Order: sequence, then C-alpha cells, then structure tokens
Amino acid sequence: MLPGFAFFKGSIVPYSEAKVGVMTHSLNYGTAVFGGVRGYWNEQEEELFIFRAMDHYKRFLNSAKLMLMDLGTSAEDMTRMTIELLQKEGLRQDMYIRPLAYKGDEIIGVRLHNLTDEFTIFAVPFDKYVSNDTGAHVTFSSWRRVDDNMIPARGKIAGAYVNTALIKTDAVRAGFDEALVLNVDGHLSEGSAENIFMVRDGKIITPPVTDNILEGITRRSVIELAQEELGVEVIERHIDRTEVYLCDEFFMTGTAAQVTAVTKVDHRPIGNGEMGPITSQMRKLYSDVVRGKVKKYRHWNTPVFEKMLVK
Ligand code: PMP
Repeated sequence: MLPGFAFFKGSIVPYSEAKVGVMTHSLNYGTAVFGGVRGYWNEQEEELFIFRAMDHYKRFLNSAKLMLMDLGTSAEDMTRMTIELLQKEGLRQDMYIRPLAYKGDEIIGVRLHNLTDEFTIFAVPFDKYVSNDTGAHVTFSSWRRVDDNMIPARGKIAGAYVNTALIKTDAVRAGFDEALVLNVDGHLSEGSAENIFMVRDGKIITPPVTDNILEGITRRSVIELAQEELGVEVIERHIDRTEVYLCDEFFMTGTAAQVTAVTKVDHRPIGNGEMGPITSQMRKLYSDVVRGKVKKYRHWNTPVFEKMLVK
C-alpha cells in the first residue's frame, strides 16, 4: 500500500507529488540516509503511539551528519512533522514511518560536499517483518559487514544497504529466514537488519557498538528492559561464531523485526530448538512497552491523535 501523503520540501503533500528526478545524486550514488520508526496502535486507548521518536530522530540526524548534511531541522521538529503526517493519514493501525534525507541535486560527480540536502517523511501500514518470529532459522552469511572505515555501519546510510540486500537475498534464496553477518575480523556483528543477542548461562551477551553494528534503538531498549525488568545481566563483548552453536537462546532485535526468536542456525538447534524463557519474556514485555501499556516506560510513547495539529 502506498502512503496517502508525504512530508516533502517543507510541507505535507499528496504522495503522488513527492517525486525526484532520475538524475538525483542520491539515486545514482547512494548518498541518502534514512530511519525506520514504528507507530503502534493501542486498541483500549484508541491511540497511535510512536515508539522512541526523539531517539530515532537523534540517530537520523547523526546519520545525516556523517554524510555532511545540514537539514536545518531538529529531532523535536521532525517528531512534530511525523505526528502531523500520521494525523493526516488518519490510519488506526500499526504504522512504519520512514524519514529519508538525500542529496537532492541533479548533477554528475561523486562527493558529499557542495550539494543540497533535502528530506522527506512518509508512513505506511506495517505488520511483521520476519514472518517466523517465534522460531527463525538463520545462517551465517558468506558476506562480511561493512567496516567503519568503508561505510560507517552506525549510520543508516542508503548505499550501505547494498551490503544488507546481498546478505538477505542469499539467505532467503537458500531457504533461511534471516542471516547473521561477521565482521572482517571474523566476530559476529549483527543480522541483516537486526542487532543480535545471545543467552549463555543466564546472561545476555551482545556485540559492542564498535563491532560495526547499527546502534539500534530496539537494542538499547532491550538492554534496559533486561536489566531493569527481568533482572538479567547484559554484557557487551565480541561474540565468536561457534559460541552461537553452543548458546542457550538467541534473538534478534529491530524496529521492524521487534524481538525475533532464533531457534536454529545453519541447521543446528539453538538450546533445545525452541524459543527460550528469556526471549519469550522479552517478547511479551517489549510488545507491551511499545503499545504504551507499561506506565514506567510511557515516556517512550508519543501519542499521535491526542492533540490535533491538522485541521
Ligand atoms: N542493524 C541494521 C543494519 C538495521 O538496519 C536495523 C534496523 N534499523 C537494526 C540493526 C536495528 O535497529 P533499530 O532497533 O534501531 O531499528
């Protein structure tokens, strides 16, 4: 389904008017950055809550900074624009929100400097990203994660997603649900578009932000929830490939993937081959938190329809 509207060149316009020319710099050279944010519909309250909007927009502006973009806006402004856009769309269901900043010049020549920075936001209804999210079967990709000195993985940079696309397509065509990807040094980095977590001996272990991962908002949320609510210690350190074969539980996190349980890797069962207790508790807790059902974390939920900005 296409969006009804888009925030484009400073105002909300019908989606059909939000167009760029084929010569646009970012379309030719991958010089765009994006975000992925979810809006969750809460049936009881009849409200749509954007999850961690400010944190997503802060990361989005950091990605833009890496690409020498000055968007002349703030995380607060972008959150307000998103509320306006979602009000205009008026859909009472789960949504996926995509902010995108791009070098908008129609010009030949690869570079970052002396170009015009533009941004747009659009939103579409969205359900699951990994269909088998209670028992995904993953593989170790033969591709390696881009290194910080090649294309910074901590930014959501459009061009870098060619790496993701290669990883994902090979995994899916080989019959797997998702792929895990190693760094050039052979340590586990993340999934194709998810951060990863391993449970060993009751502790949660995840790679540090210096392992060419995207600094995931879901990752950050899960670390806090694990420590604060489940009382489980979280350790950030390198992970070896064969530790995954021996771990008790494994899950992947992302705005789209949410908390996806992984129960098999390269045909080897993880633990007893079923979703484990920590993963299962985290899935339940995360799903309550994102829908605004946990008071303590309500500051992560921005209501969309509470104050109508759009006439
Ligand atoms: N890694 C990559 C490469 C991603 O594209 C994503 C999805 N944005 C993630 C991790 C998860 O990040 P987040 O929890 O912020 O969505």
